[in-house]
Amino acid sequence: MRVHYDRDADVNLIKGKKVAIIGYGSQGHAHAQNLKDSGAPEVVVGLRAESAGVAKAQSAGLRVWDSADAAKWADVVMVLTPDEAQGDLYREKLAPNLRPGTALAFGHGLNIHFGLIDPRPDLDVFMIAPKGPGHTVRSEFLRGAGVPMLMAVHQDPSGNTTEIAKSYASAIGGGRAGIIETTFKEECETDLFGEQAVLCGGLVELIRAGYETLVGAGYAPEMAYFECCHEVKLIVDLIYEGGIANMNYSVSDTAEYGEYVSGPRIITDETRAEMKRVLADIQSGKFVREWMLENKVNRPNFKAMRRSLGEQPIEQVGAKLRAMMPWIGKNALVDKSRN
Ligand code: NAP
Ligand code: MG
Repeated sequence: MRVHYDRDADVNLIKGKKVAIIGYGSQGHAHAQNLKDSGAPEVVVGLRAESAGVAKAQSAGLRVWDSADAAKWADVVMVLTPDEAQGDLYREKLAPNLRPGTALAFGHGLNIHFGLIDPRPDLDVFMIAPKGPGHTVRSEFLRGAGVPMLMAVHQDPSGNTTEIAKSYASAIGGGRAGIIETTFKEECETDLFGEQAVLCGGLVELIRAGYETLVGAGYAPEMAYFECCHEVKLIVDLIYEGGIANMNYSVSDTAEYGEYVSGPRIITDETRAEMKRVLADIQSGKFVREWMLENKVNRPNFKAMRRSLGEQPIEQVGAKLRAMMPWIGKNALVDKSRN
């Protein structure tokens, strides 16, 4: 695995280019502001006129244009709109306007890897995929650090795409933590699997199942929330810092013994077999096909599932308890009025 750092990148390369960031959501706000703070003089945010991002980007001192105008102007266009809308955006706003030889970049490999976008052959196409939420990409940068980023090149008519990609990643903080070379396929499939099996899907279900088991057995919901949700962060912080043994060093031997004997009773052979089936659905394109179909019909299932999460007791108990721990909300990563 090849990893690059700031010393391997020429950050001035991207500073000499006109960069359009399309979208100002989780990733977009972080990329645009980090580029600007790294001294890139020509950064424009591309948004729809009615977007809530317009005022946020302007108040961060960024210029905001329609995506079509930004595409005509830019040397590098980073697409940070939702994956499910990128195909239409490319066909309607970008492809007709990008000048020959422009670099077209993505924060995730999905549209290119699954063939939802077939980029014009004259375009340099690369990916810089931060391995963390956009709000962390920004907060780490402000701390003088960065999050690791995956870099891949899909097509390289100029012969210079890798250098541009490295420079871009360095300017948004990736070179401080490591810019890891990969492919669109590897990034896309591992990313989808990670978020489904472990990070979002697996973790949320694990937390909920634990919470519901305790509450169902008659324990106080507040106790259940602390044990099965709140403390997840404390444990993950220890693993993040020094690995599993580091966490085990910090918890009691009783907790560690319970981990060894009960953990495998929770994640069983059947769970592992199901993980393989989840991966197979990602690799075959089945998951992406179904998600794109869901979007075509205005997301009825997605909306229903999101609504039902809001009604879950764990969310309500959690909101009440977090209000009693005001330090949690201080320096919040997510502030919906700003980012
Ligand atoms: P997001 O938070 O949902 O933000 C999307 C932004 O795009 C919003 O500003 C939205 O504005 C704008 N937008 C939507 N449709 C648009 C259009 N047709 N034209 C112009 N702007 C449009 O998205 P995200 O989570 O940052 O994801 C962006 C990309 O980064 C995706 O490829 C994703 O896979 C990748 N990525 C995300 C993360 C993460 O931390 N979230 C991590 C790694 C990679 P309006 O809707 O207000 O118009
Ligand atoms: Mg991910």
